Amino acid sequence: MTEHDSLSDQLGGVRGKRVLVRSDLNVPLDGTSITDDGRVRASVPTIAELADAGGRVVVLAHLGRPKGEPEERYSLRPVASRLGELLGREVAFATDTVGPSASSTVAGLQDGEVAVLENVRFNAGETSKDDDVRGAFADQLAQLGDCFVSDGFGVVHRKQASVYDVALRLPHAMGRLVATEIDVLRKLTVDPQRPYVVVLGGSKVSDKLGVIDNLLGKADRLLIGGGMVFTFLAAQGHEVGKSLLEDDQLDTVRGYLERAGQTGVEIVLPTDIVVDTEFPTGDREPQPHVVPADEMPADSLGLDIGPESAQAFADAIRSGKTVFWNGPMGVFETPAFAEGTRAVAQALTEIDGLSVVGGGDSAAAVRQLGFDEDAFGHISTGGGASLELLEGKELPGIAVLER
Ligand code: ADP
Ligand code: MG
Repeated sequence: MTEHDSLSDQLGGVRGKRVLVRSDLNVPLDGTSITDDGRVRASVPTIAELADAGGRVVVLAHLGRPKGEPEERYSLRPVASRLGELLGREVAFATDTVGPSASSTVAGLQDGEVAVLENVRFNAGETSKDDDVRGAFADQLAQLGDCFVSDGFGVVHRKQASVYDVALRLPHAMGRLVATEIDVLRKLTVDPQRPYVVVLGGSKVSDKLGVIDNLLGKADRLLIGGGMVFTFLAAQGHEVGKSLLEDDQLDTVRGYLERAGQTGVEIVLPTDIVVDTEFPTGDREPQPHVVPADEMPADSLGLDIGPESAQAFADAIRSGKTVFWNGPMGVFETPAFAEGTRAVAQALTEIDGLSVVGGGDSAAAVRQLGFDEDAFGHISTGGGASLELLEGKELPGIAVLER
C-alpha cells in the first residue's frame, strides 16, 4: 500500500468503521470568531475522503494551550461548525474528549457522518511527559475508534497521546495533508536548487534558534527578522531597548555569527528597525519610527524591520531558486508594523523556483495581507513541524506511522 491508494484501501476499508482522525484545527480566534480558517480548510480533503468512503469519522484536535483542563475560550465548538460549513455536511460536536458526550456522539454516528470531539488538551494525559499517563489517555481515545489517520501536520513533531500513542494502538494511515507537506518539505532538505535562501522571523525565538544551527551548513543565505533579530543585534553589542530578547542565547548567537563567517553562509540582518515606545494594543494609536538597527533608543521596542531592510530582504529573496520563509518580520497584525512582512511575502511570490511558507502566523499573514495563496509554491500548515523536518530531525508522529 502506498499513499497513492485511497485511505480506505490503506485501512482495509472504512465503511462502517469508526475512523479517528487527528487534524490540526488550531486556528486563531477573536472571541469565538475564526480570524483565519486555513488549517480547517487544509483538513477537509482527508475528512471528506474518509466520510465519502463510508467511514464514521471522529476528529481529534486541539486549540491553543489550555493547561490540561477545560477552558471555555479554547473550546473547539466554533471550529466544528466552520468545518461543517466547509464540508457541506452536518458535523456533530461532543463536549468532552473521552467522557459520556464523546461516547454517545460516536455511538450515534452513521456511515459517512462526522463528529468533532472537544479539545484533546482539556485532558492532562494528552501532553504528559509520562509515558504511562499519556498511554492511559491514548487507551481511552483508542476505544472510540477502529482505526486512526494522522493528518495534523502542525503536531507531528509532538510525542502526544492523540498524535503518537494512539497510533501504537490502532491500525493507522497517513492523512492527505501530512503526506503532501512531507513531499514538499523533503524537497528542501534533499538537494535544494541553489541559491537556497531561508528567511526566519516570528516570536518563538528560542524554538527557532535551533534550526539556524542546522541551516548554517545548508542554506546559502539566512535572513533574520521578527523577534529573534534583537538577540542577534544584542549579540553584536547593540542596544535593543525593550524588544524581545533571549539573554541566555547571546553566546549561542555569537557562535552562529562566527560559524556563518567560516562556512560562507551569509547571515543578513536588518539595518533599520521600526520602533515604538509600547507594544501595539487596541487602545492606543501606534507611533512608529524608523531608526538605524545599531541606534535603537533604550525606551523603545522593535516591531518590524525598516524599509531599507525590507528592500534588501526582498532583493536577497528574489536571488533564490529555493526559498523557505518561517515567521513574520514584525507585528503584522497591526498595519503600522506589517510592511516588512508584506515585502518578504511579495518577494516570495516573484521568485523563479520553489517558494515555501511555514508557520501558522506566517500563513495567516499571507492571507491577511491579501496575497493569493496560489502565488506561493506551498504554504505549510505547520511551523514547528516544518522547521524540525528542515533540521533533519525524526518526527515522532511520522516515525510511529512507519512502524
Ligand atoms: P509562525 O506561527 O509563523 O511560526 P510565530 O508564532 O513564531 O510565527 O510568530 C508570530 C508572531 O510573531 C506574530 O504574532 C507577530 O506579531 C510576532 N512578532 C513578529 N515580530 C515581532 C517583534 N519584533 N516583536 C514581537 N513580536 C513579533
Ligand atoms: Mg505561531
